Amino acid sequence: MRVVLVGPPGAGKGTQAQFIASNLAIPKISTGDIFRYNVSAGTELGQQAKAFMDRGDLVPDEVTIAMVSDRLLEDDAQAGFLLDGFPRNVPQAETLRKLLAEWDARLDIVLELVVDDDEVVRRLSGRRTCRRCGRIWHILFEPPTRPGLCDDCGGELFQRDDDREETIRHRLDVYQKQTQPLISFYADEGILLGIDATGPVEEITERAMSALRRFMR
Ligand code: AMP
Repeated sequence: MRVVLVGPPGAGKGTQAQFIASNLAIPKISTGDIFRYNVSAGTELGQQAKAFMDRGDLVPDEVTIAMVSDRLLEDDAQAGFLLDGFPRNVPQAETLRKLLAEWDARLDIVLELVVDDDEVVRRLSGRRTCRRCGRIWHILFEPPTRPGLCDDCGGELFQRDDDREETIRHRLDVYQKQTQPLISFYADEGILLGIDATGPVEEITERAMSALRRFMR
């Protein structure tokens, strides 16, 4: 199954992508994660992407598309995949459609996680990540016992540069202007399905899985 997950920053795409991909036994391909890995590893790709990411802007299409098409050619993606964070604009979606058509394939479903802006800001501005083990905490919804330290490994918690309120508002703006048009692009194709992405994580996963089951061929 070939799935795309869209939704504003903070909709919980990363969390849901992990559950859905493991339920469907397909690889989760997250462009944000691949970029962050490259930034911390100091690769050339990371250097190209960092300034855009810190500002909350999209990394240029030619860089992003080259990275994704390489990833989609890997063996584990042949039988299906879940894309998290790609495409982010109409040109990326058109390129993806062309790439898949060359392989005689197409997307099965685009799942939209629906949440409003205030909820996004509340979620993202409280998000903290452990420097050592990568676990994600939230200062309001899932606070660690000792402020600033990870309960699992004792590592120091940090806030992603792009999770500060001003940058979040900018990322939301970028989402409205550049990513929102994808919703009608995929609705026209008849493969868009939106689900309410508020409430307990397990309930959202259940909603997502029942939406996906309706599109399984
Ligand atoms: P995310 O973790 O999906 O919120 O992505 C973090 C950042 O990575 C974004 O704010 C962008 O700067 C960059 N990024 C991720 N995916 C894309 C994409 N498909 N196109 C352009 N930039 C992207």
